[in-house]
Amino acid sequence: MLNGFMEKLLAGKWIAGPSVEDAISRGERFRKIGIGAIFNYLGEALTDPKDIEEATGIYLNILDKIEDGDQQFQISIKPTQIGLSVSLDAAKKNLERIVSKANEKKIFTWIDMEESELVDKTIELYRSQISTGNVGLCVQSYLRRTKNDVEELSKEGGIFRLVKGAYTEDEKVAFKTKDEINKNYEDILTFMFENTKMFMVASHDELMIEKAVKLSEEHKKEVWYGMLNGIRNQYLIDLQKRGKKTFSYIPFGQKWIQYSVRRMQEAGHISLLMKSMLHGQKV
Ligand SMILES: Cc1cc2nc3c(=O)[nH]c(=O)nc-3n(C[C@H](O)[C@H](O)[C@H](O)COP(=O)(O)OP(=O)(O)OC[C@H]3O[C@@H](n4cnc5c(N)ncnc54)[C@H](O)[C@@H]3O)c2cc1C
Repeated sequence: MLNGFMEKLLAGKWIAGPSVEDAISRGERFRKIGIGAIFNYLGEALTDPKDIEEATGIYLNILDKIEDGDQQFQISIKPTQIGLSVSLDAAKKNLERIVSKANEKKIFTWIDMEESELVDKTIELYRSQISTGNVGLCVQSYLRRTKNDVEELSKEGGIFRLVKGAYTEDEKVAFKTKDEINKNYEDILTFMFENTKMFMVASHDELMIEKAVKLSEEHKKEVWYGMLNGIRNQYLIDLQKRGKKTFSYIPFGQKWIQYSVRRMQEAGHISLLMKSMLHGQKV
């Protein structure tokens, strides 16, 4: 009963719905107002080969439904959906299947970043496709190692989506205060404006976004801006109206609980959650 209610409330706000068709239809609604979509199939830490094959198949299926050369629609894959919890080789093979189709169709592919113990393997996974120039990697400013990773990967033509990070990490590997995480975000942003060809500023934080807008003007360099569907849709619309290239990250699928719990933890306070219910208005 509660599940049904929460599902309706959150699925409507943050998640497109259970099917590929729901994702595309939400993406089309964003397209109508000039905003692109990044589709992510829900689910992670898969170990059953059937589930891994199903998740890989869903990405191949959504690619089938996107027109060739569509610059407004992208996909984003969690490494542990396509086999990283089983073996790096399995994940590489499945990523190769998805990326070769995406590249044929000229659709951009992102690799999500998960827990810190997976970063080395995820970077290796990314390196297996980096030379295609049509795949990007999410990097997290709360990790102490990230600036160094970005410096190294940018020498190989890396394309990045910069986020703060969504998992609970130990202070040995991660900055814990908001000030440190934000300072690292700003440092990495500055590095990216100076040293990389393309990246996405993925945040709902006005401080980070307006800093990026300012740097973008100083460097005369346009970048992408991404937000999670339903968190601050109005701000994303405002950025689009200011001439910025914007994307909404749209999860879809049945496994909505883990994703929603993460978003509720970030909201941290019921008033913030209510704000997202009001300001993350449905598109
Ligand atoms: C496009 C995109 C892709 C992402 N991909 C990944 C990924 O692959 N791996 C990963 O670890 N993380 C990913 N994230 C999540 C990210 O790491 C953060 O957990 C999340 O974006 C919150 O951080 P923030 O930058 O918005 O800043 P915060 O400091 O958390 O928030 C800044 C402000 O935004 C608003 N806000 C933020 N969250 C909420 C909320 N849930 N409800 C209401 N208001 C809110 C509030 O006003 C808050 O003060 C992604 C985020 C985006 C936007």
